[in-house]
Amino acid sequence: MLEPDDTVAVALSGGKDSAALLRILWKLERRFPPARLVALTVDEGISGYRSEAVSISRDMCDELGIKHTVVSFEELFGVTMDDVARRRNELQPCSYCGVLRRKALNEGARRLGATKLATAHNLDDEVQTALLNMMHGDVERISRPSSILRKTKARFIPRIKPLAEVPERETTLYAYACGTRFQTIPCPHGHDALRGDIRVMLNRLDLKHPGIRHTIYRSIERLSEAMGSTGKPRAFRACSICGEPTPNDTCEACIMLRTFKLDPSAARVVSAHTR
Ligand SMILES: [Zn+2]
Repeated sequence: MLEPDDTVAVALSGGKDSAALLRILWKLERRFPPARLVALTVDEGISGYRSEAVSISRDMCDELGIKHTVVSFEELFGVTMDDVARRRNELQPCSYCGVLRRKALNEGARRLGATKLATAHNLDDEVQTALLNMMHGDVERISRPSSILRKTKARFIPRIKPLAEVPERETTLYAYACGTRFQTIPCPHGHDALRGDIRVMLNRLDLKHPGIRHTIYRSIERLSEAMGSTGKPRAFRACSICGEPTPNDTCEACIMLRTFKLDPSAARVVSAHTR
């Protein structure tokens, strides 16, 4: 995932997983003098929630001597998640947030001159997402390589997930063992209900069949490899609005943002693309 001279931007949310990831990479980075570590927090504009996370992230970076940048939805897109939650139609706020946050992270990482963007997705997140994609019939997403997303275009910062094979329980334990402060209150806009059900199901299964999440993760990797060897590589082009790489004419984020300018045809396109 990493080269000795990488500039790694850690996506720091202020939660336990990203706090653990930042500490681990900070320890590693000191062994590689040409490498640099920076941190990036996305302020989605969620009142009563995000400001605490931003201040926790800032304190963490001050303590470790890491350069920290905040990018906000308001600055980048002219809209906050609170606005989105008020004005959304058939989609969950999480669907909008996920797409806009990916775009914000890429933009922030580019501003920091990063060569890699590290996110703190753990094993539980990865397996839940894969099962969620299967239940949505989204085969194309299942076939994407999960832990390392390779460079596709100059504007796209390669994403890595160093904790993708580490169970959530262990990242939590590590964060507590470090004595680091992290945010524990949940997002007021709620979570994807189906993901919550999958999470409960996997936890129950793991009690009776320890290691089952690792087995599912391996199966997904093999499935992904098999699909990659037979499927055509996806052709990327520049989004007609923002210039970001996308397999379509317009990227998902731009389509979503168009819905907030009250364009009803765009809203239908969004629901066809995302759930
Ligand atoms: Zn775009």
